[in-house]
Amino acid sequence: MSATLLEGAPLADKIKEDVKAAIAALGTTPKLAAILATDNKGAEFYAKNQGKACEEVGIDFDLQTLAPDASQEAIEAKIAELNADASVTGIILLMPVPPGVDGRALQRAIDPKKDVDGVNPTNIGTVVQGSHVLAPCTAQAVYALVEASGVPLFTDPMESMGKGTDICMVGHSEIVGKPSALLLLDKFCTVTVCHIGTKDLKAHTTAADVLIVAVGKAGLIKGEHIKPGGIVIDVGINRVKTEDGKSKIVGDVVFDEAVEIASQITPVPGGVGTVTTAMLLKNIMDAAKLQA
Ligand code: NAP
Repeated sequence: MSATLLEGAPLADKIKEDVKAAIAALGTTPKLAAILATDNKGAEFYAKNQGKACEEVGIDFDLQTLAPDASQEAIEAKIAELNADASVTGIILLMPVPPGVDGRALQRAIDPKKDVDGVNPTNIGTVVQGSHVLAPCTAQAVYALVEASGVPLFTDPMESMGKGTDICMVGHSEIVGKPSALLLLDKFCTVTVCHIGTKDLKAHTTAADVLIVAVGKAGLIKGEHIKPGGIVIDVGINRVKTEDGKSKIVGDVVFDEAVEIASQITPVPGGVGTVTTAMLLKNIMDAAKLQA
């Protein structure tokens, strides 16, 4: 078997079209403020990409660069300034924050109505309650890709009886694993969440109709971990060395093995990441509507 590619671009393009239409209807230009308090190359790269994505749909982008050793107080003051600035629609805090700084306290300090990364406990709480507006972007991207795969998702408990999709979520981070699991649980999926403490990973992964992997370890999931005909959503982003001494980006799943066993699989790059960027734009629009 050779799996069909579950590509991110068609979903991302549709979201961007919707965002452009919503901006036209809004009549004002939303603005994303990104706080960068690190010289981490990955964070700088993400910031650049966010700027490009905003530009593509007509959202203003304001990169607020602080020193890589900025203090808790300095970053909190910047967040307070952006919270109070009516021209700022969304605030995103790029990770990592400087050593010794309490990232969670910073996430709590972001106005929930401007929290376009969905990291404030208020917004995470709405994911638990099934009433979210600003959920974490990657979790929304995972959900959208699962939906696009065509597996049964239900809103009506009676309709779902005995028919819920079996999902295995590998990774339980606050930003990806936990919220992805909750969004799918809300659609009457039976979600098993695996992590470093899981006794028999393969027993869980091979039982799942949909296997979602968000760990950050290249090669963790091999062909033998996948149910024949199952669907694989690979969230991982890992830079690995190639034989010619160069480097490339791969996921957590051994793609060449998985593609022979799964029925659908997301590519890396070009899968979850592409949709995540579009979801950030959607969140900025949703934040603009919340503030209108
Ligand atoms: P994270 O916060 O480091 O979480 C990784 C999770 O994997 C943790 O829950 C960890 O469990 C678990 N884990 C570690 N080793 C494991 C193992 N051997 N078996 C099973 N579970 C294991 O990372 P994250 O932010 O969720 O990101 C995960 C990956 O997704 C990274 O590669 C990241 O770059 C990528 N990512 C991609 C996107 C995108 O848009 N495509 C967005 C965000 C992140 P413990 O905590 O118990 O150790």
